[in-house]
Amino acid sequence: MATDMPEYLMLNIVTPNGLVYAHRAEIIVAQTVMGELGILPRHAPLITPLEIGEVRTKRVRPKDQTNWIAVNGGILEIRDNVCTIIADSAEHATDIDVPRAERAKTRAEARIQEAKEAKDTNELKRAEVALHRAINRIRVSKHLSN
Ligand code: ATP
Repeated sequence: MATDMPEYLMLNIVTPNGLVYAHRAEIIVAQTVMGELGILPRHAPLITPLEIGEVRTKRVRPKDQTNWIAVNGGILEIRDNVCTIIADSAEHATDIDVPRAERAKTRAEARIQEAKEAKDTNELKRAEVALHRAINRIRVSKHLSN
């Protein structure tokens, strides 16, 4: 029956530092390796790897508040109306240190240049991932100034 349908699902984001996010959501949008995924209450069970990207969620309370979280890849699981993301690191937009991310971006760009010159493909891949992480943090932080 429609009245039995939960109007929200729980979003938990866990990193080695502990629980970085735990709130009820009306909708969650995440960037999976298969593309963008919108998750509503009563979503079917699922486990999927995530890209380095943003997770967007519309909160139950405060009503209509949107939160953005920068997620460093990881795994997303949906089960019993709980969405759990486990990632190496994740930062709520309000916790992102933008100058630090800008410095990480500059460092990564220099590493990419050096790796290309040295034809070091492993270092190139690592530096590209570091650049992607920094750009993602910068992009997520920009939601707050819009
Ligand atoms: P940096 O070179 O600045 O350390 P990084 O991409 O190497 O960046 P990570 O290894 O992904 O950093 O993360 C290490 C820890 O630092 C994690 O707890 C992560 O949440 C945190 N962190 C990294 N960059 C930032 C940032 N710009 N703002 C807030 N926390 C950050």
